[in-house]
Amino acid sequence: MTNDAFPPFAFNTTPSVRFEAGAARRFGAIAGPILGARILFVTDPGLRALGLCDAALASLEEAGIAVTIFDRVEADPSLATLTAAVETGRAAGVTGVAGFGGGSSLDVAKLAALLTGSGEDLDAAWGVGNAKGPRLPLALVPTTAGTGSEVTPVSIITVGEEEKRGVSSPLILPDIAVLDPELTLGLPPAITAATGIDAMVHAIEAYASKSANNNPLSKMLARQALQLLGAHIETAVFAGHDMAARSAMLLGSMLAGQAFANSPVAAVHALAYPIGGTFHVPHGLSNALVLPHVLRFNAPEAAGLYAEIAADAFPELAHEDGTQGRCGSFIEALAALSKKLGLPAQLREVGIGEEHLAKMAADAMKQTRLLVNNPRELREADALAIYRAAW
Ligand SMILES: [Zn+2]
Repeated sequence: MTNDAFPPFAFNTTPSVRFEAGAARRFGAIAGPILGARILFVTDPGLRALGLCDAALASLEEAGIAVTIFDRVEADPSLATLTAAVETGRAAGVTGVAGFGGGSSLDVAKLAALLTGSGEDLDAAWGVGNAKGPRLPLALVPTTAGTGSEVTPVSIITVGEEEKRGVSSPLILPDIAVLDPELTLGLPPAITAATGIDAMVHAIEAYASKSANNNPLSKMLARQALQLLGAHIETAVFAGHDMAARSAMLLGSMLAGQAFANSPVAAVHALAYPIGGTFHVPHGLSNALVLPHVLRFNAPEAAGLYAEIAADAFPELAHEDGTQGRCGSFIEALAALSKKLGLPAQLREVGIGEEHLAKMAADAMKQTRLLVNNPRELREADALAIYRAAW
């Protein structure tokens, strides 16, 4: 029997979420029972030097847990880093893995738990649904508010010079995500702005995704995420020690992550990847640079959807009449927000020469897994036109 009003969907997320200011100080008590007696603690050298891990590490020691620290994760983590993390964990005979940091550390922790637990061949695990498991118990603690990696079933690793490969499988969702907004109080304004916009893009693209698995839960989560992120992003950027703003951003980023983990992102991300991959522009900023231009391109097909969520992010737009007007104002408000937050608005401002745009457009077309979700079909000439507009 057909059921057009309620098409089938699947929804997976992290089964346990702990949101609590100061939770990192009690990490041993919270995650110890899940992770077992010997854990691999995956983080990056910057956080380690800042002392941001100290309270969590002390609480693990207090809980009588033996900790092996792997603190060599870099931005856009490499296969060599992942391999080293797995070898470190195996040598120590760990019983569980904790990931502590930004998206990179969490991505490495996910695959370290998988490969250490199952011993499977990574080359057979790349792609969607190819991981076999079982993985080791896994706890993730995000220290930025943007990627939502603590609730997404994806890990992206850089293979060779700049090839990004991903493993996507519900198996690498962690057992628990521990969200402590205190960890994000010291994030610099530029990172807060870029990662916050990235989270907003996750919500917008999840809501409008043409994926057959776009679903009522993702839509609800995306709207709630936009309400939190839209209301608090300016305060988080300009008054970083505001706990309410930091809490809203961390929560909003997670909700957006739950949304797009099940209703995947589209052309904004597809066009952002060549900017990040070739020119090493941070992921959030890459998204912000193409965001208004991609939404303008999508508007002929997606204006109704954008109009539905416009006032979630920008409550003043509730007074705008008409789908077209509200959609247009939404796109302008997003562009104005990036500017207000101090992010560069043009590709030329981040060192990209006009002569690179054609190659970038060709590269963006390789992101077929994302482009299929875009509300309007996008061809290479469209990608080039978008890059020109963004240049
Ligand atoms: Zn993103």
